[in-house]
Amino acid sequence: MTASAFAALFVGALAVSLALRVWLAYRHVRHVAARRDAVPAAFAERIGLPAHRKAADYTVARTRLGVAETFAETLVLVALTLGGGLAALVAWTDVLPFGGIGRDLILIVAVAVISGIVGLPFSYAQTFGIEVRFGFNRTTRALWATDLVKGILIGAALGLPLAALVLWLMRAAGPLWWIWAWAAWIAFQFLLLALYPTVIAPLFNKFSPLPAGAARDAIEALLVRCGFANRGLYVMDGSRRSSHGNAFFTGFGRAKRIVFFDTLLERLTPDEVEAVLAHELGHFKLKHVLKRMLWMAAFSLAFLALLAWLAASPWFYEGLGVPPAPDRPGVALLLFFLALPVFTFVLAPLASLYSRRHEFEADLFAAKNASARSLVRALVKLYEDNAATLTPDPLYSAFHDSHPPAAVRIARLEAA
Ligand SMILES: [Zn+2]
Repeated sequence: MTASAFAALFVGALAVSLALRVWLAYRHVRHVAARRDAVPAAFAERIGLPAHRKAADYTVARTRLGVAETFAETLVLVALTLGGGLAALVAWTDVLPFGGIGRDLILIVAVAVISGIVGLPFSYAQTFGIEVRFGFNRTTRALWATDLVKGILIGAALGLPLAALVLWLMRAAGPLWWIWAWAAWIAFQFLLLALYPTVIAPLFNKFSPLPAGAARDAIEALLVRCGFANRGLYVMDGSRRSSHGNAFFTGFGRAKRIVFFDTLLERLTPDEVEAVLAHELGHFKLKHVLKRMLWMAAFSLAFLALLAWLAASPWFYEGLGVPPAPDRPGVALLLFFLALPVFTFVLAPLASLYSRRHEFEADLFAAKNASARSLVRALVKLYEDNAATLTPDPLYSAFHDSHPPAAVRIARLEAA
């Protein structure tokens, strides 16, 4: 491969993925807007026209903001690579009075700061523009800013040591450094899983034990029925930031916790909460969580092997606008993570397909161990509360949605 051939490949893939994203968003907006004035027949008795219209408008607003963000990200990517931005940063960090790893860490921080600054106005517009307009937002500017600072500090505290370790391995561990880096990455994932419920999440939210009552009784009975060991049921004050509801598991092994957003418990009846939890439980019992982790591990090993090969190929650097820098492993690392999404977006439907199969299986598990009818009722409430569209463009949805479209999912549950 020559540098100019790789540059052409990169530009071609970038054009295809940008055009695909914009075209899918355009289709989605048109599809949703055209169905704005009629609730789909299957939902006619469950969702009113005002809620359906609100979901359509919310979807259109979010999709449009997403397109604007895609353009901004593409501009930054081109400016950093072919535009010479990264080459300038490399030249600047080359003359810094630091050791090898220090220079690369500063380079990585500089690129993270640039992409963070570009993403900030979109995150702000999402929260204080769209979420406010549709009545979902409950966060204040002060809380939003505090969250941002906390996120940056945690990201630095966890990400910088990991980056330093990987950079050190790239320099010192020989040609098979990528296997060591992979082991470090897997260990880091487990560290995150262990730290998230006990250290990280409590920095952002309050967790209190689920109070006694009909919901708790139904959940405990379900856990016993399914033979599921856990370290407690918690309620999280999700209502501090947003009225969107959710439920999730954190931790692993015997240290698993089950967390419900207070907003979810407010809206659902005990049997609906039970059905939602049964669905989540299905993901564990059917080993979806484990399978997903194994896939992730396999993909990260393959990507690291690819990175090792590319880092040793001068055309990889030159094709992306940077002079080859074999003594600066941070350059290859950054180029790889900047360029990779351009090539992988076309594969998104495969990941969605895999994840949708799991969603159907978990729904079936919930139908068996709780109640299909309660799950349908809960889903309808959640679609309504989150203003999720019932009429997504099928092609857009195939690329972007990890969950099956509402109509398909509910039809299958009703058949169960
Ligand atoms: Zn699920």
